[in-house]
Amino acid sequence: MRLIDHFIAGGTAGLPTDRRGPVYDPNTGAVQAEVVLGDAAVLERAVAAASAAQPAWAATNPQRRARVLFRFKELIEAEMAALAHLLSSEHGKVVADAKGDIQRGLEVVEFACGIPHAQKGEYTEGAGPGIDVYSTRQPIGIGVGITPFNFPAMIPLWMGAVAVATGNAFICKPSERDPSVPVRLAELFLEAGLPEGIFQVVHGDKEMVDAILDHPAIGAISFVGSSDIAQYVYSRGAAAGKRVQAMGGAKNHGIVMPDADLDQVVSDLAGAAFGSAGERCMALPIVVPVGADTAERLKAKLIPAIEALKVGVSTDPDAHYGPVVTAQHKARVEDWIARAVEEGSELVVDGRGLVLQGHEDGFFVGPTLLDHVTDTMESYHNEIFGPVLQIVRADTFEEAVALPSRHQYGNGVAIFTRNGHAAREFARRVNVGMVGINVPIPVPVAYHTFGGWKRSAFGDTNQHGLEGVRFWTKVKTITQRWPDGTVDGGNAFVIPTMG
Ligand code: NAD
Repeated sequence: MRLIDHFIAGGTAGLPTDRRGPVYDPNTGAVQAEVVLGDAAVLERAVAAASAAQPAWAATNPQRRARVLFRFKELIEAEMAALAHLLSSEHGKVVADAKGDIQRGLEVVEFACGIPHAQKGEYTEGAGPGIDVYSTRQPIGIGVGITPFNFPAMIPLWMGAVAVATGNAFICKPSERDPSVPVRLAELFLEAGLPEGIFQVVHGDKEMVDAILDHPAIGAISFVGSSDIAQYVYSRGAAAGKRVQAMGGAKNHGIVMPDADLDQVVSDLAGAAFGSAGERCMALPIVVPVGADTAERLKAKLIPAIEALKVGVSTDPDAHYGPVVTAQHKARVEDWIARAVEEGSELVVDGRGLVLQGHEDGFFVGPTLLDHVTDTMESYHNEIFGPVLQIVRADTFEEAVALPSRHQYGNGVAIFTRNGHAAREFARRVNVGMVGINVPIPVPVAYHTFGGWKRSAFGDTNQHGLEGVRFWTKVKTITQRWPDGTVDGGNAFVIPTMG
């Protein structure tokens, strides 16, 4: 059985491995590898290596740090196909989609190549008589990224690329369900010239996360995962005096106005609701047609589009999406479908019980469509995170703005319309962090910034872009005076005002 080890100080840890977790091939349901599950002692080794390496890395001038990022980018590009297959084999998303996962992370690496510009401070000459003020952005020191299973390349790179470019040592604690890609990224970083100890990987579950939250040498934690864990990580990390950003779950709505181009909407919704088997925090699992006529027309077009979707193994180039990540997750998604029916929604297309010939034990769930879902239902309020699209009918535009605004999650939302005024009003008023106007999955580009509102994010900075630079650095402000020898006779007992 293949063993996936930690990556500490430039190599595998080779530490005692009495606790291990299974890594499945979601296509077959078989265990394909085991991942070591670390503890406080393993973390201590990584922190020691990080502490030893970080001061020299922080003192390396920013353009030299950027050159490592440039080389890293080239290595990822050269290895794109192999990385995508590795990612797909543990996650279950189709290979083309796995490439998208890597590409989105690569774009953050590209952003981080510009770190000499992004990390520049501010300067005011003559802020007082003979006094200049300047600020610098210094690295936090040691930072950790705790990442979810659903983007095993993009999310470690959202965090890690910016953290190391700004002069930190970064430790990734990936999801134990698909841990291989972050290890490969650590190897590529080393090959690109990053010093040992600056990008490391420790594996584990709650035991490792708790050790991270309590470790006094770790200054910043970036977390992405489900909301209850995000809130736990945020609270416990902040209570220990750390800087924490913790992104949580989502239940994104797509509003369809009566004037929308429904053929385009159906094409967009199919990808946004069912791509990656719905296991995306920016998926669109709720569609809100405005008006009964819009709802009927949309439903009539959605049914054949959903029935035409091809579910297949993740290496099948014709498959629209592959299996979900684990057997437990498949059962959870199917339980939510049953619950939605019990709650009174209409099951229009039922994806439960899908069996793929030759892959009978794979974790496949067919595309599912539910209509007449209402905001009183648990299946509406909770994240299902599977290939399930729920229709929630609204009578008016006001109701359509209110639904996502009131929902516990506020990650992303989209509106489909030809009416610029309606779109503008919607974007201005909706209580959600990322908005798409005729764009179903409004994930901002790397030089902008990613983050939701309400229970989709705890903390006050977003991922990547200049927000990421702010998260991974602390500001130091220097007020300097170089006297010319004349003694200043001002009143030193009054707070200086420089007026
Ligand atoms: P998860 O919360 O189960 O796991 C995330 C991380 O937390 C993993 O590294 C895991 O090992 C760790 N963890 C799990 N249980 C823990 C516990 N009890 N104590 C401490 N740590 C624990 O999430 P997941 O299933 O891997 O990922 C899917 C979730 O992530 C979904 O809710 C999805 O919406 C969310 N997500 C959010 C964003 C965003 O930016 N808002 C992006 C991607 C995914």
